[in-house]
Amino acid sequence: MAETSAPYPLHEPGLWVEWVGDKVFRDGGPALFLDRDGTINVDTGYPSDPEQVVLRDAILPVIQAANRAGWPVVIVTNQSGIARGYFGWDVFAAVNGRVLTLLREKGCFVDMVLACAYHEAGKGGFGVGDHPMRKPNPGMLLKAAEMLGTDLGGSVMIGDKDADIEAGRRAGLSRLFLAREASVAAEQAAAVEIQAISGI
Ligand SMILES: [Mg+2]
Repeated sequence: MAETSAPYPLHEPGLWVEWVGDKVFRDGGPALFLDRDGTINVDTGYPSDPEQVVLRDAILPVIQAANRAGWPVVIVTNQSGIARGYFGWDVFAAVNGRVLTLLREKGCFVDMVLACAYHEAGKGGFGVGDHPMRKPNPGMLLKAAEMLGTDLGGSVMIGDKDADIEAGRRAGLSRLFLAREASVAAEQAAAVEIQAISGI
């Protein structure tokens, strides 16, 4: 667990909370919450190689819509690979940095990243069952909303697993979209929703 003492934005050993950039957002406005693996990037199963990160094109217009609308874009990602001992926060930092770089190259900007390393099958201090920060629990969304002053009821969440949708529901969101590998319907609906709410 030596890597947890590195200068990473850890609020506790298993919780990464990172501000990206220095944008200021309207208090009480909505946010776009995004799962990462399988939603922003192709899920290769515990991604641990920055060189293998490939974005899902379908998500790009959704992030761009949120950026145009002035909504904060927040990644909320379960990273049980850390609890399971597959990799450490250093690897997460490298992979996530690559995701953010590739997004920026497409004109897509993320404002906040939260990652939860806890899992019941984990080792040492990461071995926590049903941790409040691990989706389907809403902890990461609630934490981000508290820091950003977000209106959760007006926010949008996209994920590729039922746990993502459930986390959004438990956080009080009603605009929840389940991304599917073979379809862009959820992403298109989410982008339309953001445009409709924000009037852009
Ligand atoms: Mg996922």
